[in-house]
Amino acid sequence: MIIGLTGGIGSGKSTVAEIFAQKQIHIVDADAISHQLTQAGQPALQQISMHFGPAVINPDGNLNRSWLRDYIHNTPTARTQLEQILHPLIATECATQLRHTPQATYQLLMVPLLIEHQIFKQMCDKIIVVESNLELRIARVMQRNQINRETVVAIINNQASDEVRRQEADFLIYNNDTLESLGSQVDHIDRVLREQSNRSAQATPLF
Ligand code: ATP
Repeated sequence: MIIGLTGGIGSGKSTVAEIFAQKQIHIVDADAISHQLTQAGQPALQQISMHFGPAVINPDGNLNRSWLRDYIHNTPTARTQLEQILHPLIATECATQLRHTPQATYQLLMVPLLIEHQIFKQMCDKIIVVESNLELRIARVMQRNQINRETVVAIINNQASDEVRRQEADFLIYNNDTLESLGSQVDHIDRVLREQSNRSAQATPLF
């Protein structure tokens, strides 16, 4: 089974993923894959530079992430164009990493914008949504990334709302409390998912 893990910025996805990883659950991280695919010399970078022009590449061959961020901010269609280039490549690499894991009970596919993008949503059998109070998220991200409130709020406003995410959730994790509380919610979901994947493995005919 492939279980999508998502939530708004600063909700605690990575923290939740770490707890699952401690239980030997394999995590495929779409954000990390996106970063790898846009390293210097990667084919995706050539496609991005053909589309957006040479300013998108730094003299050292790396992606000029701040230029691209500003460009997307000022050009309404640019975000969709970038997603059209990157998402199929990210989805293919996610599928490869998910395929190459032997004997998994279930695996997690962590995608920040899972609900927003069908290409990732359709890869998942079930979805876990991590939810956290808005003010807590803003404070956590401001502290973690050393950025101002306005920037965090702008990112949040570009993502699906809690209500929309909640409608897609098979499991909801509330991350408004301690790490211990987070751990016990993950324990419960892990138990349910292991039971479900055992049951579906038993139900699968051998031939
Ligand atoms: P992003 O979408 O930006 O990648 P995320 O949803 O993966 O964020 P995390 O990186 O897991 O969120 O959490 C954001 C910050 O809040 C991190 O610095 C993390 O250590 C902290 N944090 C998350 N949950 C808790 C918690 N329950 N108690 C204390 N700190 C927490």
